[in-house]
Amino acid sequence: MSFASLNLAPELLRAVLEQGYTEPTPIQAQAIPAILNRMDIMGCAQTGTGKTAGFTLPLLQLLAPMASTSTSPAKHPVRALVLTPTRELAAQVEESVRTYGKYLPLRTALLYGGVDIKPQIKSMQGGVEIVVATPGRLLDHMEQKSINLSQVQMLVLDEADRMLDMGFMPAITRILAALPPMRQNLLFSATFSEEIKKLASGFMRNPTMIEVARRNAPAELVTHQVYEVPALKKHALLAHLVKTRDMQQVLIFCRMKRDADKLSRQLIRDGLSATAIHGDRSQSERSLALDEFKTGKVKLLVATDVAARGIDIDQLPFVINYEIPNTPEDYVHRIGRTGRAGSPGEAISLVSPEEMDYLSSIEKLLKRQIPRLPLPLLGGDRETRAPREREPSAVSRAAAPALSEDERRERAEQRRVREAKDSGRARRAPYAGGSSAPSAPLSAAYPHFDFSKPYEPPAKDAALDVAAVAAKAPLPHRPQARSIGALLGRKKLDKV
Ligand code: AMP
Repeated sequence: MSFASLNLAPELLRAVLEQGYTEPTPIQAQAIPAILNRMDIMGCAQTGTGKTAGFTLPLLQLLAPMASTSTSPAKHPVRALVLTPTRELAAQVEESVRTYGKYLPLRTALLYGGVDIKPQIKSMQGGVEIVVATPGRLLDHMEQKSINLSQVQMLVLDEADRMLDMGFMPAITRILAALPPMRQNLLFSATFSEEIKKLASGFMRNPTMIEVARRNAPAELVTHQVYEVPALKKHALLAHLVKTRDMQQVLIFCRMKRDADKLSRQLIRDGLSATAIHGDRSQSERSLALDEFKTGKVKLLVATDVAARGIDIDQLPFVINYEIPNTPEDYVHRIGRTGRAGSPGEAISLVSPEEMDYLSSIEKLLKRQIPRLPLPLLGGDRETRAPREREPSAVSRAAAPALSEDERRERAEQRRVREAKDSGRARRAPYAGGSSAPSAPLSAAYPHFDFSKPYEPPAKDAALDVAAVAAKAPLPHRPQARSIGALLGRKKLDKV
């Protein structure tokens, strides 16, 4: 199928071809005609599937007849509103709108928090048709009456599951109440939990469900590997891997903000070029860090899960989980940063004994055991301090205002570590304590898994089986908030 067969306007086709795209991705092939038919849609797709162009192109086409070259702000009311969970994703979506809409006289504004609101107010005063916003900052504008939503005809909720995870539900409810009832609604989400379906049923009109696997499924292109390593040796191992394998661009994940900072400082001391991105850094610092990483000025970007959401880097060869995430969904989101745009990638996890339960949850979701790699000899096995498990002081606790998403995760993590310690729970036997040999005969434990091949995803049915298994035996560390089976494969629904 070609883009030309999708009945897109010549201005849009020209912009698409300039990007070098000749064929629509599966989500684009399904979503574009449905949106042009003015249907509400629920798109089940992660980043990497081409979903942004999947909604941006038809949105621009539907607004094109109302485009005006007039300078009067009244001729440029807000007609489309796109909500995203993070500033990074908002910036990427807005860039897509500008890229694909470059031959149409439609105006765009990007509204996110963490930066001065005044320039945003000024941009709104001139009139804009398309607003891409994070929910919190949009509410600020609504309160300051710097935005008028009374003429919105199209609403897009991008990464809706993330928005709910991040506690944006009250904000979304307030925003929905301020929109005209007659409008087209598009909702995109990597997972479709009951919560998302409930949200959707509250505001969508008979939505059509569109779902696709990732374009270049991570399975086909990403090799998963684990080093079982004591926490004290992780830093030395990381530096060793980066140096000996001459890694040029690596996204490194930590669970906590302060550990991300600390690790990036340690790496710089090791003579490596590194920077960190997390919720405590200002927006300009985050943008700079991301830019330096994307352009290759900095080789190592240390990130928390929240800060890395929506980051889109084509051809990122390595993702290293310095600390593995405590939810399997985050693992899938993390590795989704590599193996994109047809390039192979490696997802390497450094797993300490304390994290073995998290690893089991991930393997349960993947329905595979991830191959263990032998620990290399680390220069003198120099001792490095593990990231401290911190208890917020009474002072910081008292002073702390509302918790950010990063902070909520950190607190939950600290609680879990404390509880595990308090209960004196013996750690699982299989951990090899950093020895080079895998702890159990893997081929015996996983007779169907071919360890010589990169990880492949479970088929849809298999993924549903995982969900069923997980539902029967809830995992120890994680409240089962969302259907994890839905992340890698999910039930097909024509209408919701
Ligand atoms: P998204 O899922 O929207 O984050 O897009 C992932 C990546 O796919 C982005 O880098 C896009 O530029 C790219 N992309 C979008 N549409 C296409 C297409 N039709 N063909 C090839 N690449 C595309």
